[in-house]
Amino acid sequence: MSTVHAYAATSATEPLTETTITRREVGPNDVRFDIHFAGICHSDIHTVRAEWGKPRYPVVPGHEIAGVVTEIGSQVTGFKVGQHVGVGCFVDSCRECDNCRVGLEQYCTGGGMTGTYNAVGRDGLPTQGGYSGSIVVDENYVLHIPEALPLDAAAPLLCAGVTTYSPLRHWNVGPGTRLGVIGLGGLGHMAVKLGAAMGAEVTVLSQSLKKMEDGLRLGATNYYATSDRDTFKSLRNSFDIILNTVSANLELGRYLEMVDLDGVFVELGAPENPLVVPPFSIIGMRRSIAGSVIGGIPETQEMLDFCAEHSIASEIEVIAPEYINEAYERVIASDVRYRFVIDTESLREA
Ligand code: NAP
Ligand code: ZN
Ligand code: ZN
Repeated sequence: MSTVHAYAATSATEPLTETTITRREVGPNDVRFDIHFAGICHSDIHTVRAEWGKPRYPVVPGHEIAGVVTEIGSQVTGFKVGQHVGVGCFVDSCRECDNCRVGLEQYCTGGGMTGTYNAVGRDGLPTQGGYSGSIVVDENYVLHIPEALPLDAAAPLLCAGVTTYSPLRHWNVGPGTRLGVIGLGGLGHMAVKLGAAMGAEVTVLSQSLKKMEDGLRLGATNYYATSDRDTFKSLRNSFDIILNTVSANLELGRYLEMVDLDGVFVELGAPENPLVVPPFSIIGMRRSIAGSVIGGIPETQEMLDFCAEHSIASEIEVIAPEYINEAYERVIASDVRYRFVIDTESLREA
């Protein structure tokens, strides 16, 4: 076991504080790496604030992890010391169910994926995430971060990147697709960049026009404020696909009616309360509502390689660990452009 500094939440209401945690010894199939950067995903906040049920405190969040390999197990074949690597939202799965076998580990039916934090690993110990100095993960759940990408701006690709890439690919978004993106936050800004790189015509639906200049720079063609009621009138039946990345509950009916005949509304956000769907908002145009969760290991690697090829990474604000609690407040207030990334250097020495 080795000891490493980390930031943990001990309850839903108290701020995260510095602590130490242990990491297992490197087993034959494990990779140990120094964590250099960890993104702050809104899911970290939902989890530690018990918005999805009570987590296993203490929780060290962080599932957008980027770093450099420091040690490999005797049977590791895919990684070398010194390589840039990442870990996303899960660190294990059953490996035997139909979904795991085809690289859709996020849909594991053999007990479900093992979350990078707030879960229990094969060893019976709680998993702890990326707001820490180092981590030990089975090589099958570690990604290669291409050298062409800066490590700090690549970290958010491990969740925000793949969560938006996967549905864009699944619903064949490409040239000619009219794509709407609700919410220009961590996921939303990646959806804009990736959708534009795939050739779609991207429209941002944000609460206000405050971030319009950014949205257009990131690749959107159109930008509308949802605080303006006319937006919903003028965009009725306008999209082939909408990705909803909002972390709060919306008045869904109005948004659903922006989807065109046979189009799909993909829910990516995971707000605390159930979604309320007025029946006529989907009956009317034979619309579908779907959901999607992150992406599997092969698709996450494909996304990282796609980003390197297209020079895409996240727009980030790098912060020190001491700033995490303030950053949480700013994420909740939609005051982030567009991902906070923790520089974990001060957590590396224990
Ligand atoms: P984020 O950075 O906070 O972005 C959410 C955006 O939603 C905000 O920037 C804001 O955009 C908009 N928004 C926030 N509150 C709103 C409100 N009350 N009404 C209307 N719009 C609002 O969060 P994130 O990290 O991108 O995560 C977004 C959601 O996706 C979270 O619920 C998270 O748990 C979930 N998530 C799901 C998956 C998955 O696999 N499905 C993966 C990761 C995260 P504007 O300022 O532009 O309006
Ligand atoms: Zn996430
Ligand atoms: Zn499985």
